[in-house]
Amino acid sequence: MSRVQAMERYPLFFGGEFHETPQRSTIFLPFDGSPVAQIFAGDAATMDHAIACAVEGAKLMAALTNAERSEMLFRLHALMTAETEDFAQVITNETGKPIKESRGEAERTLQTLLSSAIEARNLHGEVVPMEAAPSARGKMAMTVREPLGVIGAITPFNVPLNTAMHKIGPALAGGNAVVHKPSEETPLSALRLAQTMVRAGLPKGAYNVVCGDGPKLGQQLVADPRVAMITFTGSVPVGKAIRAAAGLKRVTLELGGNCAVIIEPDADIDLAVARCVVGSFSHSGQLCISVQRIYAHAAIAHAFIDKFTAATLKLRGGHPYDELSDYSSLITEKAAMRVDSWIEEAIAQGARRLTGGPRKGATIPPTILENVPLTSKLACQEVFGPVVAVNRYTDLQEAIRLTNDTPFGLQAGIFTRDMMRAFDAAHKLKVGGVMINEVPTFRADHMPYGGVKESGQGREGPRYAIEEMTELKLICWKTGLI
Ligand code: NAD
Repeated sequence: MSRVQAMERYPLFFGGEFHETPQRSTIFLPFDGSPVAQIFAGDAATMDHAIACAVEGAKLMAALTNAERSEMLFRLHALMTAETEDFAQVITNETGKPIKESRGEAERTLQTLLSSAIEARNLHGEVVPMEAAPSARGKMAMTVREPLGVIGAITPFNVPLNTAMHKIGPALAGGNAVVHKPSEETPLSALRLAQTMVRAGLPKGAYNVVCGDGPKLGQQLVADPRVAMITFTGSVPVGKAIRAAAGLKRVTLELGGNCAVIIEPDADIDLAVARCVVGSFSHSGQLCISVQRIYAHAAIAHAFIDKFTAATLKLRGGHPYDELSDYSSLITEKAAMRVDSWIEEAIAQGARRLTGGPRKGATIPPTILENVPLTSKLACQEVFGPVVAVNRYTDLQEAIRLTNDTPFGLQAGIFTRDMMRAFDAAHKLKVGGVMINEVPTFRADHMPYGGVKESGQGREGPRYAIEEMTELKLICWKTGLI
């Protein structure tokens, strides 16, 4: 059923050229372990060389006008649009996601790129009202935004192409060069992207990809003084290690979550059910903004749970290349075994399983648990799997308190027709984004996106990421003879 005809080879890419190294490894389809591609691993010398290429690439990028950078990204967009299905297949090959989800990711990547191309033209500073200070009489000033230089991008396995584009698009739009270290589990889409970049005519060294030992290469990228900024998406422990090692480098961190949604008694239950199914189980829950906790008001909990359970049972599992598959495997069997153990722990502590089980290899069927103890791992930590805990509440303030009672703060959702209560919740929820009548899993790629607390720092969405990826410079001058 796999569309992979023959094992493709994906060389590393830096300095505008593809490189094969002596060290090879094979990427397997997570669903059944069939080999899908061969990649080449780089070492410390490879990374060193790639960073040197990026230093040269950054000079070429900085010399381009905003319009030229924008045109370049529009050219890339046109080429990628024609190759969307190919990108979708590469994503499925490395992640094991159902092909229809990979198509969704490829389409979203185009949106991220389009937004970056548009923002490249909009990059501008402002006039500063200097005479607001008595000491600045006769002075005028303006700001300009300048590229940082070389940006190190480190990405996780779960949404390999769009997460990468959220870093690459804004970095290039801002006039920088990128050294990208993708996840060792899912390096293919970045290496495939490099092929299209060559056709789009990017300057040599503007985009560079190095794969190999993830922690070692990542640490090297973080430590190298030629790299001005690290943009990281991944787990909290690695994010903290990067923050600690980065010194004065600029760092943005998109980390974990265990997002919650609140269902009020006046909510549109059918809407909440439809959205919670998508929010809890798309990408087999391997999304930082997956719905992991649902707080349903006691007055409607029964009705909600009945419909939610029925809708979830309709989801169809299968081979990722089966057009009818709604869910498929997790990234590895090891990951599935961990998720399974968290489910069993919650059940042992008193939770009741409404759907799901048993695990088959790396695949876990969508799992709803109710009455999950607040002390279980499922309630407190990030499960990163197709599991959702439904608990009841009677007072909105209590539901807000429970939603906030976590080290994370990425996004949250509330379903209600009462906008006064919705906005009250929106103000009190300690998260980077609140979705009203929507699940926290919702993201449009141009919107500001990021977390508070252990969910990270800095914002993505091309307009906001470009701000993080450029330096504000002030130019002040004395006017006339005053
Ligand atoms: P991970 O943290 O294990 O790895 C992420 C990347 O960091 C990989 O490329 C890896 O090779 C690299 N890395 C590992 N150790 C490193 C080190 N010491 N120094 C530098 N780089 C290092 O994450 P993962 O398992 O690939 O992805 C899952 C995690 O990503 C989850 O916690 C999830 O919540 C998070 N995530 C967050 C967002 C967001 O936008 N907030 C989006 C997607 C995923």
